[in-house]
Parts: sequence; structure tokens; C-alpha cells
Amino acid sequence: MKKAIYDFSLDELTGLLATWHQPAYRARQLWEWLYRRKVTDFAAMTNLPADLRARLADEFTITRLEPVAELRSSDGQTVKHLLRLPDGQMIESVLMEYDDERRTACISTQAGCAMGCVFCATGQMGFARHLTAGEIVEQALIFARQLEAEGERLSNVVLMGMGEPFHNYDATLEAIRRLNDERGLNIGQRHITVSTVGLVPAIRRFADEGLQVKLAISLHAATDEERSKLLPINRRWPLRELMDAVREYIARTGRRVTFEWALIAGENDTPEQAERLGALLEGTKAHVNLIPLNPTPEYGGRPSDPQRVAAFQRVLTRHGITSTVRVRRGIDIQAGCGQLKAEVQRAARRRAKAEPAGEESTDSR
Ligand code: SAH
Ligand code: SF4
Repeated sequence: MKKAIYDFSLDELTGLLATWHQPAYRARQLWEWLYRRKVTDFAAMTNLPADLRARLADEFTITRLEPVAELRSSDGQTVKHLLRLPDGQMIESVLMEYDDERRTACISTQAGCAMGCVFCATGQMGFARHLTAGEIVEQALIFARQLEAEGERLSNVVLMGMGEPFHNYDATLEAIRRLNDERGLNIGQRHITVSTVGLVPAIRRFADEGLQVKLAISLHAATDEERSKLLPINRRWPLRELMDAVREYIARTGRRVTFEWALIAGENDTPEQAERLGALLEGTKAHVNLIPLNPTPEYGGRPSDPQRVAAFQRVLTRHGITSTVRVRRGIDIQAGCGQLKAEVQRAARRRAKAEPAGEESTDSR
């Protein structure tokens, strides 16, 4: 089977081309075609000798994420891709366009997720496998290619799609470096965000990477009892340990941390919970993102209503903590993490059930 060229680092490609008796600058030329020009065919790499292009095409593939479904929100500003990997696994990536110049890709780091957060569609499907660094970066490349064809540019990347980035630490870090690489996508570190459910050893490790990347922590509850109900990983690394690691991260990097809070009606949106969160974060260099819950099939919780959200936010303000209410972008296209894949699988199961009867669907769409 051919190898995927995006799984190779520049050093690895340089080493490989040296064994093919190519001059050292060839690997940098190849890199530029892959990451700056973003061509999808070796034949298009016109400054490489024809025999080299032929050999590369014999041994490597360029694109390997196959688009299976694409959904655009009714306002046209959010588009979600369901992508199939060569082994049949499926992942999701989302592009969000804002009225300013921002074009943000939300990309996946794993097929499925092992963390089992109860309200999350990806958690509900379980873990399939880690993505390679190449597979993570390719999602951003797909959007970058599309945008550049329209005269625009991918400006931001959030590692907030399917999977827990810090469970797949090495590939995630390699992907971040490649997204940031000025010889390629050249996305500023401050325009990249990595979100974690709270894997404490990885947060400590991340603090030492010397990166300016933004860190987001999925908090969702301010007591161990409540948090362990929603996020099982809290039993392994309870709040005190998590907050110790986060404070150490802030002290070491000087960077502000974002805390994610999915507001679930009657569950974690009460004034008491807001007070607890306020007390937990007071004096911490923090910002809170409040996200009304995206309902998912296997979790009965509902999103909080706007008055509840506003009241929650007022309590945080009193504690001196800034927060934003994140609009649930693309709610009409199942753009919550893992939701499109879950929906496509349900539709496939419905079809499989219907088929033994041997009847054509009367729905002609
Ligand atoms: N695994 C990482 C990143 C992917 S999830 C993490 O958990 O941080 C990205 C964000 O979406 C997390 O804050 C997660 O808690 C949140 N999320 C997951 N399912 C959600 C849902 N149904 N409604 C609202 N937010 C959700
Ligand atoms: Fe995994 Fe994040 Fe979903 Fe939790 S919220 S199951 S960590 S993807």
C-alpha cells in the first residue's frame, strides 16, 4: 500500500530524498508544494524532475481523507465535513466563517474518544483510534485549499473536534508545529487553540513546550461530585489537582486560560454553581466560555435558557471573571462535536433495517 506523504516530517522527507540521491533542497521544494501551494497531485509539482514526481506518485498518496458528507448551516457561515479515513474510520471537521476576516477550522485529533463525557456525542461512541499528525493537519489543509480558491485564508484552528488532544499528545504537538510552520500553513500560535478535558500530566508537559498556543480546559462543573458525574476523568484527576496544574501552567507561561462550561438546564446553570465557579477561579488569569448544551441522543440534559445564561454570567462578573456566551454555531447542521457522524450512523442503521424488506424507499430525495 502507498504511504501517506502528510505522515512524514520535513526531516523524514529530507532523509528519504537523500537516499534517492536527490539534492537537499528538493525536500524543501516538495514541502512547499504540499503545505504552501497545497497541490493534490504530484504531477503539479512542476519544479521537481519528472522522474522524481513519478517515483513519489508510485510510493505516496497526497490526499487520504475522503469527504463523505458535507453540511452547510442555514446562514451559510458554518460548514461541516464528515471525512472517511483509509481504514474506514470517520471523523468530523468544521469551518466557521465570521463577519471579520476570521476563518476558523475546528478539527479532530482522534476517531471517537475514550473519555466518556456523558453529554458528548463523541464520548458516547467510544474510542476507535488516534489520528496521526498528518491526518490532523490534513483536515486544516482541506479548508485552507477551499478558502484559498475563493481568495481567502484559513486564519485560526481549534483542536476541539472529535477526540481528546492530550490523550494523543505527540501527534497533537507535531500537528500544532506543522500548522504553525511558516514554510507551510503559517497559522500564528496565538490563533491555535487546544482544548482538553483535563489530563493533568499532559497539561504540565504542555506548559514546558514553550508555545504561545491557547489552552482551553473543559470544566463544566465546580465541585468534584458534579464534575465526576459529567466527566468521568475527574475521578482520576479531581478538581484540586486539575486547578493546581492549570495555575502552574499560567505561572510558567504567563498565558490566560479559557474554561469551557456547557450550560445544562437545572444541572450546572444555577446561581450556586456560578458562585462556586466564581470562587474557584477568583484570582486566576482565566476567561470562561459559556456554551448552551447541544442536545445529544444519549443524554437527557437540555440547554439553559437565555435568562439563566445571563444570570450565570452576572455572578461571574461580580467575581471579576470575564466570560463570553458562545453562540452554538451551526446548531441546525449537527455541528456539535461527533454529532454528524452519530447521525449518519443512525441513518445507515435505519437503512439496514429497512433493506431486508426489499422495498424501495418512497422518499425520492
Ligand atoms: N476533548 C476535548 C476537545 C474536544 S470537545 C475537550 O473535551 O475539551 C470540545 C468542547 O466541546 C469541550 O469543551 C466539550 O466539553 C464540549 N462539548 C462536548 N459535547 C458538547 C455538547 N453536547 N454541548 C456543548 N458542548 C459540548
Ligand atoms: Fe472526549 Fe472531549 Fe467529548 Fe469528553 S467532551 S468525550 S474529552 S471529545
